[in-house]
Amino acid sequence: MPERVQLRSTVAVVDRGALAHNLRVVDELVDGAGVLAVVKADAYGHGATVAAQSFLQAGAWGVAVSLVEEALELRGAGIGGPIVVLGGVVRGTAEHVVVHRLTPIVWNVDQLTQLAAAVRALGARPLPVHLKLDTGMTRLGVRPGQLAQVLEWFVRDAGHTLVFEGVLTHLACADDMSDTDTSRRQLQDFAACLGTIAACGLRPRFRHVCNSAGLARFPAAHYDLVRPGIVLYGSAADPSVQVAGVRPCMSVQARLLTVRELPAGTRVSYGGHDTLTRRSRVAVVPLGYADGYARNMSTKAHMLVRGRRCRVLGAITMDATMLDVTELPDVEAGEPVVALGSQAGERLTVRQLADWAGVLTYEVTCAISKRVPRRYQ
Ligand SMILES: *Cc1c(COP(=O)(O)O)cnc(C)c1O
Repeated sequence: MPERVQLRSTVAVVDRGALAHNLRVVDELVDGAGVLAVVKADAYGHGATVAAQSFLQAGAWGVAVSLVEEALELRGAGIGGPIVVLGGVVRGTAEHVVVHRLTPIVWNVDQLTQLAAAVRALGARPLPVHLKLDTGMTRLGVRPGQLAQVLEWFVRDAGHTLVFEGVLTHLACADDMSDTDTSRRQLQDFAACLGTIAACGLRPRFRHVCNSAGLARFPAAHYDLVRPGIVLYGSAADPSVQVAGVRPCMSVQARLLTVRELPAGTRVSYGGHDTLTRRSRVAVVPLGYADGYARNMSTKAHMLVRGRRCRVLGAITMDATMLDVTELPDVEAGEPVVALGSQAGERLTVRQLADWAGVLTYEVTCAISKRVPRRYQ
């Protein structure tokens, strides 16, 4: 595909130094455990290749994605080292997994036989896999009650095809400070399953449980690897599980497209939801919901111009957002504007945007669309 020329001013600036810094903060926090850095969904919008490079250079054990497609993109970009595929082995993907030496998450015998067949057919070296246990997330994984048949496969049928390298589970309520029972029960069930696995003579090298919230809350559950995502991008699911010392990694910036002076009483944008109460200076920012600037922030969000918070006027449109710059009489078209990140000492955080939009912190950077070029610095 030909590269698109970039003429518009709108850009998402991604700070590689902050990505590496956050990896090191987590690495120090989890002490003896390694870090399996989660870069699924294009590294939560930051760009999977650059994020994976930054994390691996900063000392991550490996990276994790959701889809085989995402893993292939990373291999294609020259990323070596372990790439764990959290979404598992979908039918028809086993060959890709083996050829590109991906580390798939597995949870049933069907997946194991498909992978083993691919290893044999390709005459490949034994492939490491990680077994997922469903201890209460009720998404992916083998329920403890069905664990025996999967273990039996490893003992009897694995031969030289697959290596039982890792075992994991995922916490459902790690970010909910009011709920310790669910996590405690999940951790107990996981420990019990580890006992069952050991009793079969199986010795997976890597046991892993904790996402970002989990690693902040349950130091005793760091095991051999942790699987953080959001903390590596400087944010958290909830302020109560925010890791101290991490830095935000993305800033969304543009330049004002036009600035006009308009009389009191003028209604702004689709539906006319804002009526100017005074003679106002109204700027147009070339950033809209097609760029991932959430439409439910209409009339609520602010952007920064010259370090000052300016409110969004009326409805956010597909390609543009209007801004009240009345307090800044000499601002003209071309003036830099920040929709996410900092400017002249003032800051708009991911959490602030999430609150305005009524969404999760995760969604804010994931939503910044492909139409907004990433600029790495
Ligand atoms: C996305 C994901 C993570 C990372 O979660 P964060 O809350 O972003 O730290 C870890 N493990 C699994 C299985 C995931 O799907």
